[in-house]
Amino acid sequence: MLFSELGLGPDVLRAIEDKGYTQPTPIQEQAIPWVLQGRDVLGCAQTGTGKTASFTLPMISILASGRARARMPRSLILEPTRELAAQVAESFETYGKHHKLSMALLIGGETFTEQVKRLDRGVDVLIATPGRLIDLFERGNIMLNDIKVFVIDEADRMLDMGFIPDIERIVSKLPKLRQTLFFSATMPPEIRRLADAFLSNPKEVTVAPPASPSETVTQAMVLVHEEDKRKALRHLLRTEDVKNAFIFCNRKRDVAILQKSLESHGFNAGALHGDMVQSKRMETLEAFKKGEITLLVCSDVAARGLDVQGLSHVFNFDVPISAEDYVHRIGRTGRAGRSGRAFTLASPLDGKQVSAIGRLIKREIPLIAIDGLESAEFLSEDEARRGRSRGRGKDKERGDRAPREQRAERPDREERAPREERQPREERPSREERPVREERQPREERQPREERQPRESLAAAESRRQQEPRRDRDRDRRRRRDEDEDDTPVIGFGDHMPAFMLRSARRPAPAESAEQSSQEG
Ligand code: AMP
Repeated sequence: MLFSELGLGPDVLRAIEDKGYTQPTPIQEQAIPWVLQGRDVLGCAQTGTGKTASFTLPMISILASGRARARMPRSLILEPTRELAAQVAESFETYGKHHKLSMALLIGGETFTEQVKRLDRGVDVLIATPGRLIDLFERGNIMLNDIKVFVIDEADRMLDMGFIPDIERIVSKLPKLRQTLFFSATMPPEIRRLADAFLSNPKEVTVAPPASPSETVTQAMVLVHEEDKRKALRHLLRTEDVKNAFIFCNRKRDVAILQKSLESHGFNAGALHGDMVQSKRMETLEAFKKGEITLLVCSDVAARGLDVQGLSHVFNFDVPISAEDYVHRIGRTGRAGRSGRAFTLASPLDGKQVSAIGRLIKREIPLIAIDGLESAEFLSEDEARRGRSRGRGKDKERGDRAPREQRAERPDREERAPREERQPREERPSREERPVREERQPREERQPREERQPRESLAAAESRRQQEPRRDRDRDRRRRRDEDEDDTPVIGFGDHMPAFMLRSARRPAPAESAEQSSQEG
């Protein structure tokens, strides 16, 4: 199929040609005609499939006629992270270069003044992260009742990051009569319910089975003791033909430590994580894209969905906690038909997570050994649990190994990170003192699990929300600003029971679904 057969306007087609695309990708082929017809769309597609253009291209055609009014944007795109929001804004600039559409990017970490000025001039396309949008809405800088097209991108990620309550609030401010486009890499039941609550008679388009890694990525795993992981990584970096690589850590603080360690060993490495100021994040990413930095040590939140052309390698310095994240991480390489290589460094405590990944991708990641490094074995779940509950921590998982004095003589000791890089345990700031913790809800405000209320009615929930003491609202606001908190990922809904969960899921009547599938065929 050709782009010209999809119904896009001539100026959009010109921009596509300038960009050098010859054929629409499957998600574009399926979604664009429905979007142009004004239908709601439920898209199941991962990043890397051309998903962004599948909604930006038709939106440009739709918005080409009409004018924006001050503070009343005509379309809204919600993204879970600042980097993704910036990437979508870049797409709008590329594909909309022959149009005069105005755009505003509302993301945390930047001053309000410029963003407010932009809104005052009127914008056709508003791209935002949920927290910043709510802040501007509450300050009265923006009205959402003229939104004609609303996009929720990466819905499953929004769920993981605890943004669903914010999104519900935003949706409640939108006009009922609107077009909604909803994209998610995976479609677990809670995402389906959410889609059910937000979309009206959507066309469902799916490309690639959820969470399947690309065949163009060669995968391998190294199983070593936790303290040998840095050495293993350095070995891989030296022996692999690495042009540029993402190196994923599970925690922000480990990102900074690993980056320093790599630099001290002569590698050209930058860091990207949610605690960095926005300008620094953008600067680092730009330097990486230009090739000035070769290795980017990063957290999931900062790197999710980032599109870096021709990334040669992905290294998982930590096995990701969620199996889906594994697929997303390694999907940064091997894009657009190019080949890529992905290595995962596992330690004995990671057996459960590695099995979950194997179940998801329906195969085992081949194990490889590294010369000069002792291979380890996964502990059983019981042993791993015992190890953790004894507070031995990940770096002390060798319950059956030689006593400390003997280990101190191991020849590879000097290969470890310089001691000054590591903070001795007693010098580390207490949990309460860490900056990221300060922003979080104080512990005493949280309800212990067993005391939590059972589900309440929608009306009761709303009235309770209105009566919430100011302190709680401020706390919520602080949490939203901390949108890139990834040290303690929020799984599912956290403490919040969103309104859509209180409604029963609508099932299409058999006749209705039969009719729908015949139309789609
Ligand atoms: P996305 O899934 O939106 O992150 O897109 C992944 C990459 O595919 C981006 O680098 C796009 O520029 C590229 N892309 C999108 N559509 C096409 C197309 N029709 N042909 C070739 N490349 C494309």
